[in-house]
Amino acid sequence: MRDYDAIYPLDKWRDPDYKVMDKFSLNGKKGFVTGGAGGIGRNAAAAWAEAGADVAIVDIEPKKGELEALAAELSERYGVRVVPMLCDVSDREQVAALKTQLVDELGTVDIAFLNAGVNVPGDDADEPYEVWRTTIDINLTGAYMTAQIAQNIMREHGHGGSLIFTSSLSGHNANYIAGGPSPVAAYGATKAGIYEYARYLGAALAPYGIRSNVISPGYVWSGIHVGRIDDAVHDAMIDVVPMKRFGCNDELAGALLFLASDASSYITGANLQIDGGYAIY
Ligand code: NAD
Repeated sequence: MRDYDAIYPLDKWRDPDYKVMDKFSLNGKKGFVTGGAGGIGRNAAAAWAEAGADVAIVDIEPKKGELEALAAELSERYGVRVVPMLCDVSDREQVAALKTQLVDELGTVDIAFLNAGVNVPGDDADEPYEVWRTTIDINLTGAYMTAQIAQNIMREHGHGGSLIFTSSLSGHNANYIAGGPSPVAAYGATKAGIYEYARYLGAALAPYGIRSNVISPGYVWSGIHVGRIDDAVHDAMIDVVPMKRFGCNDELAGALLFLASDASSYITGANLQIDGGYAIY
């Protein structure tokens, strides 16, 4: 008979050195966040930096100035290394270069938030091919390519890690607004694809100690919405949200720290809805 008490400790809390809050620490961890200049991305990077990780914030060339200022501010505030990195996640060569840069500058990758995404205007039933294609390339293929470099680094360096993907409520529902569906046709398709891809990786990468989970935000007050909707649209959107409001970026950060850290060490292939209850309906 195996010593199951040793394999599965029943009461770790009785160990005077054990503290559950220690599991949330990211001290010494290295990570990267795509869409790192955006609302959800930069708040995740801030949470990881506060928890002790060195973090690369990754975004596109037009965000260079913003990204550099943000990296300086986060490094200064949290006393860790926060490095800006430019990469269009839909470009294969740029993603390959990102892998080299991550290893050169951080040494390795333990945690990765595959979060870059766009909702392109015209994404409805009559959408042009270009809208469909851009959305698939950035959201779905971008998530796949950046997850590949992350898990390859983890496996090449012989350690585990945590991958977190940004799906969306729109990957599960058609987003009912003002009498019909929101224009998220290709967007929703990419987010549904991300959800299943992340779940697959959860099973395939478990033997390597790599976990893979998904967040599905509902309506979050961030770059995707700020300045893009008026009061009437805002009110119509929250009508279907039980909490009757948007979420704030910081309300995702705790979940992103949880999923990155050992506090979620037995969780893989999971989808965490962060949506004020929208998915209940
Ligand atoms: P945001 O616009 O503030 O951030 C998105 C970031 O992705 C931007 O900084 C943008 O420059 C970057 N990006 C765009 N294309 C890129 C590319 N090709 N390569 C690298 N970076 C690129 O919006 P956000 O709300 O922070 O969005 C983050 C993620 O959350 C997205 O995947 C979005 O689809 C998802 N999401 C957002 C909401 C919401 O309500 N805000 C809801 C569900 C899901």
